[in-house]
Amino acid sequence: MKYLSIEDLEENIAVVKLTESYHKDLSPLQLYDISRGCWKNKLETFQKVKVVLAVHSFIVQEVYAVDKWLPATELHRETIPFDSEQEKGRIGFSGQVAPDEIRKKYIFCSVKDLFKNGNRHPIMAFLSKEINKEKKKWTERARTLSSEINDLHLRGMDTDAVVKVRINQGVFRDRLLQKYSHCCLCNVSNIDLLIASHIKPWKDSEEDERLDMDNGFLLCPNHDKLFDNGFISFDNTGRIIVSEKLDQVNCVYMNVQSDMKIDINNGNKKYLEYHREHILHKKN
Ligand SMILES: [Zn+2]
Repeated sequence: MKYLSIEDLEENIAVVKLTESYHKDLSPLQLYDISRGCWKNKLETFQKVKVVLAVHSFIVQEVYAVDKWLPATELHRETIPFDSEQEKGRIGFSGQVAPDEIRKKYIFCSVKDLFKNGNRHPIMAFLSKEINKEKKKWTERARTLSSEINDLHLRGMDTDAVVKVRINQGVFRDRLLQKYSHCCLCNVSNIDLLIASHIKPWKDSEEDERLDMDNGFLLCPNHDKLFDNGFISFDNTGRIIVSEKLDQVNCVYMNVQSDMKIDINNGNKKYLEYHREHILHKKN
């Protein structure tokens, strides 16, 4: 299962937590109706929200694209009796199931990490302002870590090795472990074996890229080594690209198959472009 972090949210998003009203046999229309209202919140706050994740037990059950937010009294929900007392002063949205390219980023993912601070509101908005604040925090952390590593006065290979160690003791790996439960490419799931692998290497990255979750995959030792050294990469749909440096026999022993695929998001793409351009085939 994928755990969404705040940086995975590419739209202005609201999460609605469905509790008693939810059961697994709801029809699509019933699920839509309980998701879209009615919520005790301000209309102004939610005007910017374009996507709603309907969540039960922290798992995204459906993803909606919002046409508009309106007072709950104007919702006209087909499957829920109108109750003016209940709906007064509350809000809701009208819309539809989100298009596939948006839906597939979130459906059946866990939102548990978004509620770490113990927020108990049944509906919560995540706007880009907040997402940028979170990203800034990680840029700051990367800057501190960079200067710590610089202070060690290492050169070339040593720096790469130290970065690898530091990253794998640190927060980057922890966050990747929250996001992925096994190697992004195979099913190795023993956390002692999983390695935080940068897509665009630390030394080539800008400060805001160094601890960016989109710039990392969690990989098993084999796949980490192959990826780090340019034996394999991925295209923008996540399909594996195998370097000609890796022959058939080694592919078999290193568990590389030409039909392998990795789950990628939009944020991964710019880093993967860099990897294909500068790392794939290039290093030994
Ligand atoms: Zn693997």
